[in-house]
Amino acid sequence: MLRPLLTLTGGLLAALAVVSAQAKPLSQEDISVAEVLRDRALESSDAYSLVESLTVEVGPRRAGTEGDRRAVAWALQKMKTLGFDRVYTEQIDVKRWHRGHAHAEVVAPFPQPLVVSSLGYSVPTPEGGLTAEIVEFADVEALTKASAKKVKGKIVFINRRMERARTGEGYGPAVQGRSKGMRIAAEKGAVALLLRSVGTDSDRFAHTGMMSIEGVENPVPALALSAPDANLLEAMLKRGKPVEVKLDVDNELLADGPSFNVIGEITGREKPEEVMIIGAHLDSWDEGTGALDDGAGVAIVLETARLIAELPSRPRRTLRVVLFGAEEIGLVGAKQYVEAHRSELDNIIAVSESDFGAGKVWRFDTRLPENKFDIADQMMQLLAPLGIERGNNNSHGGPDGSVFVAQGVPAFGLYQDGTDYFDFHHTPNDTLDKVDPENLKQNVAAWVVMSFLVAEMEGDLGRVPTEH
Ligand SMILES: [Zn+2]
Repeated sequence: MLRPLLTLTGGLLAALAVVSAQAKPLSQEDISVAEVLRDRALESSDAYSLVESLTVEVGPRRAGTEGDRRAVAWALQKMKTLGFDRVYTEQIDVKRWHRGHAHAEVVAPFPQPLVVSSLGYSVPTPEGGLTAEIVEFADVEALTKASAKKVKGKIVFINRRMERARTGEGYGPAVQGRSKGMRIAAEKGAVALLLRSVGTDSDRFAHTGMMSIEGVENPVPALALSAPDANLLEAMLKRGKPVEVKLDVDNELLADGPSFNVIGEITGREKPEEVMIIGAHLDSWDEGTGALDDGAGVAIVLETARLIAELPSRPRRTLRVVLFGAEEIGLVGAKQYVEAHRSELDNIIAVSESDFGAGKVWRFDTRLPENKFDIADQMMQLLAPLGIERGNNNSHGGPDGSVFVAQGVPAFGLYQDGTDYFDFHHTPNDTLDKVDPENLKQNVAAWVVMSFLVAEMEGDLGRVPTEH
């Protein structure tokens, strides 16, 4: 008597299990494929060869330079070997700038040289250089509050230190001095800006980077100082005598010119017009070889796509890899991409960018409507064994991704360990030896899970609220 009842109960349970499995957005079959891809990535993915190739064969590739042009050619050629169905470029327009020399030295009271680097798009000093007393500010807020009288005719020295953190969260507050410092200093009549590098190292390298130059009427030269040199100026100032510095900078603003977003697609088998965008930025600063920023990201997303292209059939919708141009000089490639693709935005199902170096992924953030959280929960089954924890729903999808998120496109963020990222960021020391091939394998494993499942899943992800 018991046996048929048990069988019946068992059958019911099985049926219920099927119903509840169907209620989940990602099918068991898709999850199984993603699991195979993940394990293949851990075992045999080779993003390292791609970043090695980019740094050795191209190297520095600041937007609008010869290096940038070679990077675009490299990306096109490389993509053609990786199994994409379609590879193409889209032109963007960029402001161009020539970096000349930048010398700085203390001339009084204790003459000695300083290690500096021009911030991006800094104007030159007058022929023969300029010499002036420095005036120190704790941060850009203190500079903002200062009277013009205190600043006029002087070299503003912003001396704010950046906090080290796995999330890199010290960067946001510290970078304010770089982005706004020159403008505010110039408005108050300063003759130049010296900025303690936005970085966490104590190496004698300065960290370059972009500042806002748009609409600044009388821009002045702006230089980053290495951390030890900022310490030196700080110690001299403590002695109570005026500190005079001589700057000699030879940069040049050039006419606008072309750069390119480089794009590769794996065409969807059922809904080719619907697109999952994964990206990284192809340009870099010019003093290192851009291995971490963002050669690693380029390699991770290309290798992710290669693994998906190797599957026996295409995912349901299109996977589009966009290697954005001119990210470093103001998200230029992403902004022009979104402008040019406005009519297609509703079909961009989600976006994600890898642009935080080559550390292991440790957190999975999203930007999804609340009723889609279960998709992320299902993905976590495959991500958790990689040492990844579920994060928050505030992902901005990466710097270039944020331009899409601002238009309501959902986003994913595979957050890397950035503990030492800002030791190297935007310095001559951003080179290949900082990239650990094993960490890249873990990155690709996480990326291939997320990218495949979004491209393959039955339903969509809706839209997220836009911020104003
Ligand atoms: Zn970057």
